[in-house]
Amino acid sequence: MTGTSCCSYQRSNRFTFDYHLIPSPRNKHRTMSISNVSELGRGVAEISNMLTISRIHTALMAISNMRKDLFLRFDEIIPERIHISDLGKGVAGISSMLTLTRIHNAVAACSSMRKLLMLSKDYSLKREAFGNRLYNYPLHVQTLARLETEVRAATLFVFQAVSLLSKQESGKATGDELHLLRILTPLIKLYTGKQAMSVSSEGLESFGGQGYIEETGLPNFLRDAQVLTIWEGTTNILSLDVLRCISKSNGQALISLKNDVDQKLSRTPSELSKEAEKLQMALKSVLQFVTTNQGNLDVLTFAARDLSYSLSRIYMGTLMIEHTASCEMSPVDIHACKRWCEQQLSLVSNHDQYSKQSSDMDKELVYG
Ligand SMILES: Cc1cc2nc3c(=O)[nH]c(=O)nc-3n(C[C@H](O)[C@H](O)[C@H](O)COP(=O)(O)OP(=O)(O)OC[C@H]3O[C@@H](n4cnc5c(N)ncnc54)[C@H](O)[C@@H]3O)c2cc1C
Repeated sequence: MTGTSCCSYQRSNRFTFDYHLIPSPRNKHRTMSISNVSELGRGVAEISNMLTISRIHTALMAISNMRKDLFLRFDEIIPERIHISDLGKGVAGISSMLTLTRIHNAVAACSSMRKLLMLSKDYSLKREAFGNRLYNYPLHVQTLARLETEVRAATLFVFQAVSLLSKQESGKATGDELHLLRILTPLIKLYTGKQAMSVSSEGLESFGGQGYIEETGLPNFLRDAQVLTIWEGTTNILSLDVLRCISKSNGQALISLKNDVDQKLSRTPSELSKEAEKLQMALKSVLQFVTTNQGNLDVLTFAARDLSYSLSRIYMGTLMIEHTASCEMSPVDIHACKRWCEQQLSLVSNHDQYSKQSSDMDKELVYG
């Protein structure tokens, strides 16, 4: 189904429309006889500008008065296109599409972070400030090194999911790998989206005033990154999806993740043993938190974002150590692992922060 007709503008950016059918190209021989187009359905659309590029519009559409038998009639014509799922099974019916779009989102996050960082490195080799090129200032290079660490971790994270997806699609994934793909999909989407925002912001700053000048094209990185945290599920909604995945699998998704972390860290080189230990300790505290609160949905829901961040950081650190061990232990890779593990890995160790009292005080703080 596509197409609009009879648009009538009520305000400058709002209009109603009646929609009609365009026969499927695969069913050219079967067309519907439509005597009264307006009988089929009416919608209201509101055209909006977006943060990114004002020339491209998006529209919010509400469709009402849809004829009850319309879907049945679509069914007769192009069933596989229209009959998406049984009633009440809509989200489950499109879940494989969500996996793909969320992975695409994460790939876009990585590529935009990498591109901005490459531009920033290049700039630092050329720009002279206070009598020296930027790359000669250790503080500036440290800033870029932290961004480089984020991008490396994000890239490993996303390509782990891509690799699992290819196994799933070719029917070669084990049960553990399927659970892992399910839980990693919302995690990579939510975590790399946030990274893209923070790396874009810091990345723009690394160009000084030029980062704020439209003509350089740099501000687009920040604008484009913002949508990565919103569409295909916001951070909170994806965090709730992580919880759903854990509970629907009866915890098996977490066990699969733990098995994978154990297996990867079992080959940790001695140079990174402290970091591996820190990752294991963090994972232990996360698993303990989930086990302790497994019957308390309120606490888990309240903690969902912190839980997702913790799992992401732990798994990303694990991938970095695995990568380093498989790449002849380059000192730079070792350094990147250490940088990653410097941060707080488990955010859910303090149980009190998710109490009812804490939630009530949050409400006071925001609305009181
Ligand atoms: C450029 C663009 C293109 C888009 N394209 C499409 C498209 O092609 N198809 C499509 O279907 N959609 C599309 N969307 C819609 C997009 O997927 C949604 O905007 C997005 O999923 C967020 O949903 P919402 O706008 O309803 O936000 P809301 O659900 O209203 O959320 C508002 C805020 O509340 C938080 N929140 C909501 N519920 C909870 C909860 N239970 N617990 C905690 N926090 C919560 C959210 O995290 C968010 O921060 C597009 C959006 C944009 C910006």
